[in-house]
Amino acid sequence: MFEQILIAHRGEIGLRVLRACQELGIQTVAIYSKADAQSMHVRLADEAMCIGPAPSSKSYLDMRAIMTVAHLADVDAVHPGIGFLSENAAFAESVERSSMAFIGPTPEHIRLMGDKVAAKDAAIKVGLPVVPGSDGELTSLDDARKTAERIGYPVLIKAAAGGGGRGMKVAEDASQIDDAYNLARSEAKSAFGNDAVYMEKYLADPRHIEIQIIADEHGNVVHLGERDCSVQRRHQKLIEEAPSPALQDAQRKQLGLHTAASIAKLGYRGVGTVEYLYENGEFYFIEMNTRLQVEHPVTEMITGIDLVQEQIRVAAGLPLAFTQEDVTFSGHAIECRINAEDPDTFVPSPGKIAELHAPGGMGVRFDSHAYAGYAIPPYYDSLIGKLIVHAPSREEAIIRMKRALREAAFGGVKTVIPLHERMLDAEEFRDGSYTIKWLERWMDER
Ligand code: ADP
Repeated sequence: MFEQILIAHRGEIGLRVLRACQELGIQTVAIYSKADAQSMHVRLADEAMCIGPAPSSKSYLDMRAIMTVAHLADVDAVHPGIGFLSENAAFAESVERSSMAFIGPTPEHIRLMGDKVAAKDAAIKVGLPVVPGSDGELTSLDDARKTAERIGYPVLIKAAAGGGGRGMKVAEDASQIDDAYNLARSEAKSAFGNDAVYMEKYLADPRHIEIQIIADEHGNVVHLGERDCSVQRRHQKLIEEAPSPALQDAQRKQLGLHTAASIAKLGYRGVGTVEYLYENGEFYFIEMNTRLQVEHPVTEMITGIDLVQEQIRVAAGLPLAFTQEDVTFSGHAIECRINAEDPDTFVPSPGKIAELHAPGGMGVRFDSHAYAGYAIPPYYDSLIGKLIVHAPSREEAIIRMKRALREAAFGGVKTVIPLHERMLDAEEFRDGSYTIKWLERWMDER
């Protein structure tokens, strides 16, 4: 097992990884930007080093600065967190070249899944169902027109190098295909420096359902069930829950086992999330994330498995401590992302948290780096915590979440807590019928 890990992340995720390391008896080295000197992960780490100024391009994305700290501290492994460099194959390679372990999959798997055309191709080869679409990249506008006629409108043009919902354009009918194709390409070029695009049938009103998997390097792949992340605004998830209220037991079991068996064919190692859209009883693979997800705690709550500790163990070459048969699912978990934003306009609300009361009690988990007196820097995302509840049933979990949200107090900054309270009362959330389009529609109607 590792003796010392460098945590290449900040905020809530930095703290989440630090907690796993401490429970495993591993020494921690934190890195931080000048804007994060007062951050909780810096205070709690065994060692901490400043790696640059506030902008992430000059700190958390500066591979050279991070590797310098890794060498100076002489760590055995680097945990990339979520976002930043976690899906950067070149970073994984430079960690490995330095004879340190990268706590994630191999650079080859990161690269494969980072190219969405190649990822979809790999998904087809291992037998995962995909959204009908183009055969690889679109080669020309004419190819786009012909492919759209073949699969039927509406269609979605997506960037091969995509991420964060950018470079995606819908064409409702043939009159919109030229614009959609040209716009998607130019947006992809400016966002990712790569104008390759592909086409998919645009599903009208699907749910977003994802399967958590974990694999060791000895060929064992286990799934830890699904998460429903359909409550989204502009492709950003706000509430996640496990299990999904839309699936029957037989369906979830079949999807989980099929996903794990397919990923096993790739020889994958580490944690990963296979994302699907679900509509009219059918699942369609859209992408695989080769890292931990923000919403991983809902899976931890219903399985009792610490995903970050397991991720570290498999990166150290240890075999998984459990088999598929050992994994049991209990009760229901919901996560509300607490963003420091105006609950109506979503304008970020950085600044000092004058007072803080963290919710607690039975079945309540509050993962946050915030504390009274902490100033939220304006340079990074606005996630200041995640409130997670676990209860025997979905109905009880909703009651518990409402109770916990009422207790939470962040004096001095705005948060999306009032929006969460309203969403939990909405009919479509209560009866579990919401889809990825629901939240924006519901907000427009109010
Ligand atoms: P990104 O990597 O940019 O997040 P994804 O492929 O994961 O892109 O898609 C992001 C979101 O876009 C999905 O969660 C879903 O809301 C929507 N989406 C993607 N593909 C389709 C599709 N074929 N039909 C309808 N919606 C889609």
